Amino acid sequence: MKDYMRFEASVVPLYSESEEDLWFLYNNGKLVVKSKEDEIHILRRKDLEEFDFNLAHTQCIGALDGYNCFSGEIKDNFRILNEIDTYDLKSLMFLLEEELFSLVAKSLLLLDWEKCHRYCGVCGYHMERKNSKNERALFCPKCGYTTWPRTSPAIIVAITKGDELLLAHNKHFPKGMYSVIAGFVELGETFEQCVKREVYEEVGIKVKNIKYFGSQPWPFPNSMMVGFTAEYLDGEINVDGEEIVHADWFNKDEIPKYKKSKSIGAELIEWFKRTH
Ligand SMILES: [Zn+2]
Repeated sequence: MKDYMRFEASVVPLYSESEEDLWFLYNNGKLVVKSKEDEIHILRRKDLEEFDFNLAHTQCIGALDGYNCFSGEIKDNFRILNEIDTYDLKSLMFLLEEELFSLVAKSLLLLDWEKCHRYCGVCGYHMERKNSKNERALFCPKCGYTTWPRTSPAIIVAITKGDELLLAHNKHFPKGMYSVIAGFVELGETFEQCVKREVYEEVGIKVKNIKYFGSQPWPFPNSMMVGFTAEYLDGEINVDGEEIVHADWFNKDEIPKYKKSKSIGAELIEWFKRTH
């Protein structure tokens, strides 16, 4: 399996314990890493022995390249030590390769999930980890309520009209900054319905030929961006004025300023520039 997918998700360790096992540990929401000469290294089991941290909420998340991976929290006795540093998630997105960054996000989400579900939402009793080798869940021993880690899906869509792309300026963006349309999926809605609804609500136009583009976990704080392309069908641009304050069609030579990051939103704009 590790030759097919570098990361293998698992609730229990898949390989025998190694000095090289990876530990994604957090302190006040920041990842604790070894940093040396501008290079960041995820902590290994051998580092833990060296620093003797006081750990809480530790859980196995799977294995990367054949080494077990764990997440957890370093309790309050933590202090910055020689070669040890802390980074927030946003900066790590630019500093780590994609595979490693997704594990950083996953491990933080699992830690937060467990910390936010200490009590049963039905009866208020203490929740416990479900004792299962293949299922990650917390359950209430009193009433049986069970909860699993969740994500909030959102759509993001590049809408084209001939050789033009629809871009919008959100009132929360810096001046002159534009992006494609995005929004959260509502309960009971399909992705395609969400694309139609969000686009209509935000810019007042109808779209057709909605096609899947790709997806990206977006852990700020806990979403899954599902990207689409779509074509203009009907209507005049009419911004909602609440979130979107300006929107327009742009050909590839007129694309305004947009956030060049590893986000799927930037990828959709790059896709348009390549193909139109
Ligand atoms: Zn309960």
